Amino acid sequence: MTLARRPFRPGAFSTLRPSHKPSKRSQDPVAPETYDLVYRRAGGRCEAPPDLHRDGECRGRRHVHHRLPVSWGGRPDPENLLVLCSWVHSWAHNHPVAAIVAGLIVPRRDGERPSDPGRYPVTVADGRRVLLTAEGYEEVA
Ligand SMILES: [Zn+2]
Repeated sequence: MTLARRPFRPGAFSTLRPSHKPSKRSQDPVAPETYDLVYRRAGGRCEAPPDLHRDGECRGRRHVHHRLPVSWGGRPDPENLLVLCSWVHSWAHNHPVAAIVAGLIVPRRDGERPSDPGRYPVTVADGRRVLLTAEGYEEVA
């Protein structure tokens, strides 16, 4: 028995690829203190709620995700950063509308200005709806 080799189809894996370019990272370095703060806030775990995961389980490495993308003016601040496993990270970039509802992505503009991620709540791992601050989570009604 021989295995047929199929020709490579460009775009065949495009649904697995985040829609933003990771190389943007280099233009917007996250300060080491901010990484520490965000990972501490997250308790070292993915901050996304179980229902955004397949079977409720994290998959892959953890990433620090920009809720307002760098290319939209997003800053390397705790309010804009969320620790996500790679599965949820890809999910968010491939399902932007649902990700905006969950608060994983912040809408691009608020009137004339880039949105302020500190004003957009996010649903976190324990199901609470919170605002992200430099100090941690601030619960919203
Ligand atoms: Zn996860």
